[in-house]
Amino acid sequence: MTEPPSANLYDLLAARFPADRRAPCFLLSDGTTVSYGDLETGAAHVAGRLVAEGVRPGDRIALQAGKSPESIMVYLGVLKAGAVYLPLNSAYTPAEVDYFLDDAEPAAFVTDPPAWVAHARTHAPLDAAVARGGSDLASLIYTSGTTGRSKGAMLTHGALAANALALHEAWGFTPDDVLLHALPIFHVHGLFVALHCALLSGCPMVWLPKFADDEVLAGLGQATVMMGVPTFYTRLLANPDFTRGRAAGVRLFISGSAPLLPSTFAEFEARTGQRILERYGMSEAVIITTNPLHGDRIAGSVGYPLPGVELRIGGGEAAAGATGVIEIRGPSVFSGYWRMPEKTAEEFTADGFFLTGDVGHRDPDGRVWISGRAKDLIISGGYNVYPKEVELVLDELPGVVESAVIGVPHPDFGEGVVAVLMGTGDEAAIIAEARRRLAAYKTPKRVVFVDELPRNTMGKVQKNRLRETHARLFGA
Ligand code: AMP
Repeated sequence: MTEPPSANLYDLLAARFPADRRAPCFLLSDGTTVSYGDLETGAAHVAGRLVAEGVRPGDRIALQAGKSPESIMVYLGVLKAGAVYLPLNSAYTPAEVDYFLDDAEPAAFVTDPPAWVAHARTHAPLDAAVARGGSDLASLIYTSGTTGRSKGAMLTHGALAANALALHEAWGFTPDDVLLHALPIFHVHGLFVALHCALLSGCPMVWLPKFADDEVLAGLGQATVMMGVPTFYTRLLANPDFTRGRAAGVRLFISGSAPLLPSTFAEFEARTGQRILERYGMSEAVIITTNPLHGDRIAGSVGYPLPGVELRIGGGEAAAGATGVIEIRGPSVFSGYWRMPEKTAEEFTADGFFLTGDVGHRDPDGRVWISGRAKDLIISGGYNVYPKEVELVLDELPGVVESAVIGVPHPDFGEGVVAVLMGTGDEAAIIAEARRRLAAYKTPKRVVFVDELPRNTMGKVQKNRLRETHARLFGA
């Protein structure tokens, strides 16, 4: 291992590539592989093409495409050229994409990475990465923003490097690992969390274009680590072919991007004998907390802040154990929203803590527990209702697979608590049962049954959509 020549994230990653560059990086479903050498060469040509076409350090390069090794060649080539990588959700419509292109003004927009890389190979490779400082931008990640304009979180080379190194260490990655990668690569989870851990250890990835049961089950036979969103785990558990034996070679199952239900955690442990490691992160800071690799992983808690991350609740003024907005400060926190200085200023405290918008508390052990997004807080009759507390009660009831608790306009209470339940049951019986365990103001006034909760691609329940659908439930 050689020391990287500059703070360019590319140099850090490439310095850890296996000495024998024939080592596989991507294990593809068709049985072929793409080696670390192929990745390195592809990235060098991409960087060469970008520089030849006049791309300057700091210029944005946007990409919207399906998942392929060439997308990662473009990502690494963009870093190497000193440019800023802007991945776009492959589900965005042309009209949505226009917004991002207008806002970020990229120098290039890549939509067909294999063709783009093939053309880049006609350019001379760039040998040395363009030198970058730790505070220079590496990537622009637009938040999935459910209200208002989507904001571009600016992540620097230093921030991404700090987080990647911390995770690599925290989760004990080694060159002997094989990572099952079935996540999308337009989001921090698949692009930074998963990919960087693998690249820093120089290990191969079972590279799946998306989560498909059969491919994942087959891939688990080769993998030692799997990273996923909670829906990956519920889908595995719904498949009778997912057995203890299938999971036996995997040393670590990691979950994040949305809350993992305690029932999923328990069912997974019963089926496989393994405890899923849950962690918490966001586009603006990559990973913030994690359950321990060694030591107790607790269902429902997202664990401890990563080394270097300072985390406090409600400005640090809150009483020990009290619930409030989670604030963080540390090397991996983003440096602001692209071209939105006022919005950025609103979201940071005077002493430099970022207001995550997530509400939670720390227990006496220092573990962090998340109760939901601040904007999902329900105020009913003047009382604060944390949806998570109600959801935990409902999830325990027979017939309930998963619940989402929302507040919708109510003529008397301002907001009325509504439970949207995936599953079946009787409304009156559920309300009566919930009332036995919860104060009246927290108890749902209405229960609605659905076959599926609306989710985004990262498995997050879209409460804003539920609020719209049920806005007139109380006739307000
Ligand atoms: P995104 O920026 O799209 O990655 O979304 C980040 C948000 O996802 C966070 O602010 C949390 O609200 C949520 N989130 C991520 N991981 C977890 C987790 N393990 N438990 C609960 N919420 C989570």
